[in-house]
Amino acid sequence: MKKTLITGGAGYIGSHAAKALSSLGREVVVLDSLVAGHRDFLKWGEFEQGDLADSAFLKGVFSRHDIGEVLHFAAFIAVGESVEKPDMYYGNNVRNTLNLLDAMLEADVKRLVFSSTAAVYGEPVTDVIAEDHPLSPLSPYAWSKRMIEQMLADYDHAYGLKHVCLRYFNAAGADPDGEIGERHQPETHLIPLILHAALGLRDNITIFGTDYPTPDGTCLRDYIHVTDLANAHVKALEYLESGGASRAFNLGNGNGFSVREIIDVAQEVSGKDIPVTESERRPGDSPSLVSSAKAAHGVLGWNPQFGNVRDIVRTAWDWHQKDLA
Ligand code: UDP
Repeated sequence: MKKTLITGGAGYIGSHAAKALSSLGREVVVLDSLVAGHRDFLKWGEFEQGDLADSAFLKGVFSRHDIGEVLHFAAFIAVGESVEKPDMYYGNNVRNTLNLLDAMLEADVKRLVFSSTAAVYGEPVTDVIAEDHPLSPLSPYAWSKRMIEQMLADYDHAYGLKHVCLRYFNAAGADPDGEIGERHQPETHLIPLILHAALGLRDNITIFGTDYPTPDGTCLRDYIHVTDLANAHVKALEYLESGGASRAFNLGNGNGFSVREIIDVAQEVSGKDIPVTESERRPGDSPSLVSSAKAAHGVLGWNPQFGNVRDIVRTAWDWHQKDLA
């Protein structure tokens, strides 16, 4: 059986995908520079340490392993940082993806599942976003993902490289078995930062913007459990393997939660009082990102198991208590 290459497989979502694939008996090869990934998340498959900027290394990976398809997670992911340092984002995300695609073509590997983002929609004009909603990114991070989606469309047209772009809404939670979870350095995401505050590792949680056109003035996001995301990658691979056409799928639960609501849920789950401060909007943030994931349900047969936001926060809380102990 051919192997699945997972770029960024020592990271948060990539490691959960490595677990999901391995548990189905698939052979995986994790490629990670360990700049942002974690050695202790390397629990499944073989490991190749290196950077996508290194074309010779990439060529070696494809020659050492019989790769059938690629799950491409490796990327920089912080919206705010991308506004400050666009060169980092266009270099690491766009240019290095081009290296990956060229190495794939050279090795005649023609299937790729790409980690895209709901941020490609920008400021949506509908309450719930379907895949045909116009794309209008608000940050270099979101633009880098948008540009890669275009590159993939062009590579399919020219070279027959088939892809699925999975547009994640807000990945959250942790492996229910507690083997892996979310650990970013520095952490910028809402749920882990709230839980760090609950653990006393920071003084408070800051709300970025309270004057958005939303019911309580704070941004609405659609939180999706990382294990559900991982399982969607399995479905996307099966879709491509059965000859599915290149396209994008949203991955979310279809429910918008405000920043304040998430803080309330985290207080309830952790049983801790979490001090809150309010500040200006964070540049590059969309007021509301809520999915329609009907296509992923209908076409991929994907069914999330952790649709309840309390379950999502609870698995994150279990992980953070252990990881930060
Ligand atoms: N957010 C916040 N305080 C923080 C971190 C995030 O108010 O310390 C808000 C952020 O402005 C956004 C939401 O929480 O509206 C989710 O942000 P996150 O960075 O977790 O994910 P993103 O939506 O940027 O992918």
